[in-house]
Amino acid sequence: MLGNYINGQSVASQSERTAPVYNPATGQQSLQVALSTADETREAVRVAHDAFPAWAKVTPLRRARILFKFKALVEEHADELARLISREHGKVFSDAKGEVTRGLEVVEFACGIPHLQKGEHSMNVGTGVDSYSMMQPLGVCAGISPFNFPAMVPMWMFPIALACGNTFVMKPSEKDPSTSMRLAELLKEAGLPDGVFNVVNGDKESVDVLLTDERVEAVSFVGSTPIAEYIYATGSAHGKRVQALGGAKNHMVIMPDADLDQAVGALMGAAYGSAGERCMAISVAVPVGEETANRLRDKLVAELDKLSIGPGLVEGPDNDMGPLVTREHLEKVKGYIQTGVDEGAELVVDGREVTIKGDGFFLGGSLFDHVTPEMRIHSEEIFGPVLVIARAASFDDAVAMINDHEFGNGTAIFTRDGDAARQYCEQIQVGMVGVNVPIPVPMAFHSFGGWKRSLFGPLHMHGPDGVRFNTRMKTITQRWPSGIREESNHFTMPTH
Ligand code: NAD
Repeated sequence: MLGNYINGQSVASQSERTAPVYNPATGQQSLQVALSTADETREAVRVAHDAFPAWAKVTPLRRARILFKFKALVEEHADELARLISREHGKVFSDAKGEVTRGLEVVEFACGIPHLQKGEHSMNVGTGVDSYSMMQPLGVCAGISPFNFPAMVPMWMFPIALACGNTFVMKPSEKDPSTSMRLAELLKEAGLPDGVFNVVNGDKESVDVLLTDERVEAVSFVGSTPIAEYIYATGSAHGKRVQALGGAKNHMVIMPDADLDQAVGALMGAAYGSAGERCMAISVAVPVGEETANRLRDKLVAELDKLSIGPGLVEGPDNDMGPLVTREHLEKVKGYIQTGVDEGAELVVDGREVTIKGDGFFLGGSLFDHVTPEMRIHSEEIFGPVLVIARAASFDDAVAMINDHEFGNGTAIFTRDGDAARQYCEQIQVGMVGVNVPIPVPMAFHSFGGWKRSLFGPLHMHGPDGVRFNTRMKTITQRWPSGIREESNHFTMPTH
């Protein structure tokens, strides 16, 4: 049974509660993971709290050197990590490797911590008075991650937190917990002192400790919107800084002048890659005008016919799409397909008809047309290989449909018209926008985050916001005797 990683070593959990971990490609259970008790979680927090003073004193340069070694180790073990991800999540090997690379980019960014944590300095803010700001670590930070990126999302969180001098408790998804445990071992191998990074496996019971224990200073969360809202409210009420990233429904607008072949190619990968289990997946295509819509639909149907679906780990070339993460999730997505039919949308391609040998959690790519904004298959996140076409009569109608949506994580516009693209970027109420780029995930040196109910909290993840989130600023204003000009007391606000 998979336990925890505390104080530099794997420790068995005494919890009586466990959860099954499946290989989604076979449908077989591969592992039992402990759902740690509140006391076990508190122990991880205590260890991280005790490790903090010494780690905070390690110079940023030394912290960066450990991260450089960690980067090299992750590169060396990239294939092994990708196989681990594929075995528990189901995504195809090349996609899993891509996820490792995107996570590593945050490690690379965090290696620049001596520069990033320099603070600010001003000479002569008043006569003979200098002022400087220092960015100090917070203490114990916690990360709670979703199932869909078991390597990348934890790596959005801990590299910058550690680089800034914080210690960390990671609570990965109980559906695919092994990658975080392996990353903990690689951190130790890179030279990270024991207790600085810990992994607690569990569910709400562990999360609630992280949200309420007074020794935890900050909580980073990525997952579904109802839980993100709960995390933000509960963590904030207990005095922690919180960044909680939630669910999404991402639209791609296809203008009549777009290069349709390019748009369809991009849409296929963005909608069906990773079986649609990406928070930046495009799940709504919004063609502008009936003619664009008809052409788009025909091309999509032809491409869907070619989609190769199968296990994530195969000999030879990868499949396009693997299985869904669990049988429960598969049934939920199938339920949404039925909901769409019941709501009166036209089911153009039914992924339920695809059968793959064995008991894996497979579903084919599905396509709906004539979907309207009030239908649940448009308003709710499905998180599966289901793309819906919501036709718009005009650019303004497309923008209004997207701006009225509950979520605002990512979006894209495909067009050759720079004017339309510029207006779109300015008017759209969404945090991450692509122009002829289907999945506009910001690079590690920018910050990642949505708007509306896709993010709770003021700061986005990684990039400059990541450094701000993981540090507390202190500003010193100082003057030395030779700078003091006046001898008399002052009773008014200093203004020079
Ligand atoms: P989830 O919300 O079910 O779980 C996320 C984490 O919260 C897990 O670690 C889980 O153990 C924990 N959790 C679950 N229920 C809880 C509860 N009642 N109290 C406390 N903690 C609880 O999400 P998921 O199904 O693992 O992941 C898919 C979701 O994540 C989708 O909604 C997707 O859009 C979202 N997501 C968002 C982003 C983003 O950047 N905005 C990125 C990736 C995934």
